[in-house]
Amino acid sequence: MAQVLEKTKPGYKIYTWGCQMNEEDSEQMGLYLERLGYRPVQEDEEAEVILLNTCSVRRKPEDKVFSLLGELRKWKEKHPNGILGVCGCMVQVRADELRKEAPHVDFIVGTANIARIPELVQEVRRSRKMMAALELPPRKGAIVTDVPQRITERKPKLRAFVPIMYGCDKFCTFCVVPLTRGRERSRPTEDILEEIRYLAEHGTKEVTLLGQTVNSYGKNLMEGKVPFARLLRLINDIPGIERIRFTSPYPRDFTDELIHTMAELPKVCEHVHLPLQVADNDLLREMKRGYTVEQYESIVHKLRAAMPDIAITTDLMIGFPGETEEQFQHTLEFVEHIRFDSAFMFAYSPRPGTKAAEREDQIPRAVKLERLHRLIELQNRITCEINASQVGNVYEVLVEGPSPKDPTKLTGLTRQNKTMNFVGARELIGQTVRVRAVEGHLWGFIGELVDGLP
Ligand code: SF4
Repeated sequence: MAQVLEKTKPGYKIYTWGCQMNEEDSEQMGLYLERLGYRPVQEDEEAEVILLNTCSVRRKPEDKVFSLLGELRKWKEKHPNGILGVCGCMVQVRADELRKEAPHVDFIVGTANIARIPELVQEVRRSRKMMAALELPPRKGAIVTDVPQRITERKPKLRAFVPIMYGCDKFCTFCVVPLTRGRERSRPTEDILEEIRYLAEHGTKEVTLLGQTVNSYGKNLMEGKVPFARLLRLINDIPGIERIRFTSPYPRDFTDELIHTMAELPKVCEHVHLPLQVADNDLLREMKRGYTVEQYESIVHKLRAAMPDIAITTDLMIGFPGETEEQFQHTLEFVEHIRFDSAFMFAYSPRPGTKAAEREDQIPRAVKLERLHRLIELQNRITCEINASQVGNVYEVLVEGPSPKDPTKLTGLTRQNKTMNFVGARELIGQTVRVRAVEGHLWGFIGELVDGLP
C-alpha cells in the first residue's frame, strides 16, 4: 500500500556536474523536494521537476548544460506543467545567457539560495513566471554567517560528506569559485556536530568534511574562533564515527598544529589531498596562491614525518597563461621528487570574470594537451610504482559493498583513501576489516582478508 502511495507522488530528477560540494547540494535539493511531496525518479519522462546543478570550474561542463537544456525543450513541450530549474555555480556567472538561450527554464537559483527551491517551485506552479534567486553574501563585510540552512534528515549512509564551510576568500587568479560561491563563511560548530551525531546514530562510520579551503574553517565565526584542528578533536569524540577525512585543505593554512592533531587523533585518516597546481614560484605568484614550492614541500615533509604511512595526493594544473616549457619542467621534476600517491591533473581553462582569463599569453590547446599527456604519463607511472611497493602491507578497509567492476569481490577504501577489492562474505559489508594487498594497480589494490573478521 505504501508503495502504491509512493508511486502516485510526482517525480523529480536532478542532474549534477562538478565537485563533491555540488553532489551535497543536490542531495539537499532532493530533500527539499521530497518535503514538498516529490519522489526521486530515474527517467526524465517520469519527472515533473528537473533540476540541473551546474559547475563553472571548466568550460566543458558548462557546454554540457547548454546542450542538455536544448534536449530538454522537447520534455518541456510534452510536459507543459513540468518545472525546469538551473542551479549552482554557472547560474551565478552566466545568468543573462541562460535567460536568453534557454527561455524554457522556469527558475534559476544560485549557490547560496538552494533553501529557496521549495518556494520557487511553488511560485512557478502558481504563476508560471520565470523566477530567479541569485543573491550571494556581501563581497566585502566583516563577518558573514548566512550559511545555507541544511536539512539533517539525511538517508543513512556508511560514508557521508558534510560541508563545514562555504565560499572562498583566496581569489586565485584562475579560479571562478569566489565569484560563484561568494565569500568564505563557516557553519556554526554545533550545527556540524549535531549533523554528524545524527549521521553516526543512523549508521555513518566515515565522514568527509567539505569546504573550498576546508582548513580555513572557523575564521569568521561570530561566537569565537574554532580552528579546524579543534573541530577535528570535537568530531573525533563522537561515538560511532570511525574515520574522519577532509577535502580540500589550502597549503597556506596548513598549520603545524593541524599536522600534530592529525597524527594524534586515531579517527583522522592518513590521507591528505593538498592542491599544489604548479611547482614554479613565478607561476604560483601569478596565480596568487600564497605559498612557494619550498613551503609546500616543507608541509609534505612534516606530514610524512608525523604519519609515515600517509598518502598524499594533489591537484596539478598545466597550461596557465604564459607557462613556459621550462616552468612546466619544474612541475615535472617536483612530481618526480615528491612522488604523490596520485593526482587530479587538468589543463587550464580560461574562466570569464577571472584575472587569468584576461591575459593575452594563453597557451595553445595543442601545447596544453601535449604537456598534460606527459604529466599524466609520469604521475601514472609513479602511482603504479608506489602501489606495487605497498604489496604485502596490511590495510584497514571499511567495506562498502560489491565492487562495481567485479561483483564477485567486495570493495572498500583504506585509510589512505585507496580502493581495495577482495573476496569476502557479504556480512562484512559495513564493517572494518584487515586486508593484505596482493596486487598493486593504478586504481588501487587487489587484496586478501587477513583474519576474516574484524
Ligand atoms: S583557494 Fe583558490 S583555487 Fe581554491 S577555491 Fe579558492 S580561489 Fe579557487
